[in-house]
Amino acid sequence: MTKLPAKTTKSPVRAAKARPDEGLSIVVPVFNEAKGLPSLHERIAEVARFLHSKHNLAVEVVYVDDGSSDATSQTANALPAMPLDVQVVTLSRNFGKEAALLAGLDHARLGAILFMDGDGQHPPSLIETLVSRWLDDGYDVVYTAKAHRENEPWLRRTGVHWFYWLLNWRARLKIPEDAGDFRLLSPRAANALRQMPERNRFFKGLSSWIGFRQVRVDYEPAEREHGVTTWNVWSLVGLSVEALTSFSVAPLRVASLLGVVMAASALLFGAWIVMETVLFGEDVPGYPSLVVGLMVLGGVQLMMIGVLGEYIGKLLSEIKGRPVYFVAEHTLKAADEPAKEGGKARPSPARAAE
Ligand code: UDP
Ligand code: MG
Repeated sequence: MTKLPAKTTKSPVRAAKARPDEGLSIVVPVFNEAKGLPSLHERIAEVARFLHSKHNLAVEVVYVDDGSSDATSQTANALPAMPLDVQVVTLSRNFGKEAALLAGLDHARLGAILFMDGDGQHPPSLIETLVSRWLDDGYDVVYTAKAHRENEPWLRRTGVHWFYWLLNWRARLKIPEDAGDFRLLSPRAANALRQMPERNRFFKGLSSWIGFRQVRVDYEPAEREHGVTTWNVWSLVGLSVEALTSFSVAPLRVASLLGVVMAASALLFGAWIVMETVLFGEDVPGYPSLVVGLMVLGGVQLMMIGVLGEYIGKLLSEIKGRPVYFVAEHTLKAADEPAKEGGKARPSPARAAE
């Protein structure tokens, strides 16, 4: 067997030649966003027009309706496909934003992918900047971060800070604090993301994990245009646990560390009691210290069993291997074409404005 010469990669972070002809898919998860969708779509279409004239970039938008209970799906299907192709993927129920993002990733047909929220908080005007960092500067992952968090409650800011500290604690890969889901992935980065097999997904983490050339863009998030955020304290805690258990074994390490600290202090305390009795003949003060010790130990043990449980639960859900989402309906409107009835995707998609 002849041996193939090893590929030489002298400069590992050489800018990949960006290929604008591969186009850009904009993925927008929407959950009960019917009201704001038409105006958002208008702004996206405007950006698409600009991108086409400046970079000769084909653009499509993929709205993933995450089981909305309002008219989001109908509204999205009625949006004009000018000058960009419009796909609407309606999921069979509400699967959550991370699943909706994956559905968008799976349905995107053009090379690069841009993820943005459907509530108007991610300004479409910033898309040009993200695209230019990809095409002009050769970056693979262009992620955005809130320029500041002063307008958020102190508790939330502190919580986020500690969360990232724990997440990145002794990790080889640091997931940038404050980075949002509003981000652009070059074709090769998007392909890398597609190869991640896990079902429990934390997009921000995964898209840092893949590596390549990453760059940060600061922005000022807009106010939600209407409606209320779907995130509350518990869903944020849920996502944090998800992220932590997907990306780090820090909680398990904390458990071991705590065990060592507890055992060491118990040993010292024991030695101290023996010394007291032997040297000074003092009585061992029993009951209260015993109860406190028991309760602390019991609490810590239960907590750590809970941590173990999180990882076991994760193993279970990965092993079950269920699909992350189901698609109930999928429509594609190619630019300049009348709406297609029947909710079937076209087998050979036409490119926008070519
Ligand atoms: N979203 C979704 N499925 C959900 C919850 C939210 O697809 O179960 C979408 C929502 O429509 C929006 C984006 O995810 O486009 C961000 O949601 P939201 O604004 O509620 O979160 P926040 O901006 O407060 O983080
Ligand atoms: Mg929002």
